[in-house]
Amino acid sequence: MSADQEEFPGLKEAFLQAPKHLGSTKRVTAALRECIVETRLGPGAWIREDAIAKLLGVSRTPIRDAISILVDEDLVVRLPNRGAQVAPLLMDDLIAAYALRQQVEGLAARLATIRTSPQLVAELRAVNQQLRAAIDTRDTDAWHAANMRFHAVLRAHTGNKYIERFGKHLDNVIRRFHGRTASQLSQPHDGFEEHEAIIEAIDKGNVDEAEKLSIAHMRSARATRFALMTGD
Ligand SMILES: [Zn+2]
Repeated sequence: MSADQEEFPGLKEAFLQAPKHLGSTKRVTAALRECIVETRLGPGAWIREDAIAKLLGVSRTPIRDAISILVDEDLVVRLPNRGAQVAPLLMDDLIAAYALRQQVEGLAARLATIRTSPQLVAELRAVNQQLRAAIDTRDTDAWHAANMRFHAVLRAHTGNKYIERFGKHLDNVIRRFHGRTASQLSQPHDGFEEHEAIIEAIDKGNVDEAEKLSIAHMRSARATRFALMTGD
């Protein structure tokens, strides 16, 4: 393994996995984003344009463009005259993300209920079964992935592109914290029953109930995460 590969673990693999038709900038952006949210590149890691260009076999332009996109997503910060670094991961960010997430997911559940379909309900049930399986096998990463998928499916059915965009943005904050704390989890936060109740409300077309349950679900997810971070 080359020194650049060691400095950016998993970056080349993620770049090669991104479909070629997307073009260099999108492929570099997706690969860097994945490494940052999975915390293979931790807070403060330098995003060296020349080293990454060499590692991925592309020019510096798509690297520079990818950095600009990731700065907009709050995943990278630019330091004047010094370059770009993976953004810090602060407790305040987690608090701010959950405050907004609660409202975004509540609204997502409301809108998804208005536009509900048998396919949506079936899809949510299937994802929640994956979450159940992860709980049974105590697989924290699989649980986390299934939970993220559950909420992404819901948001995708709102027909509101801003909810989808904000939701992804907030997911990235939570995913970065998950990467840091996963090893401390003896077992994942449950959430299965709460999800089932949300699905039930959506299936019945009960808009207010779906929204209320989603907000309560986010509150309890936040409480679990914070207890973990503070060691309660
Ligand atoms: Zn959930």
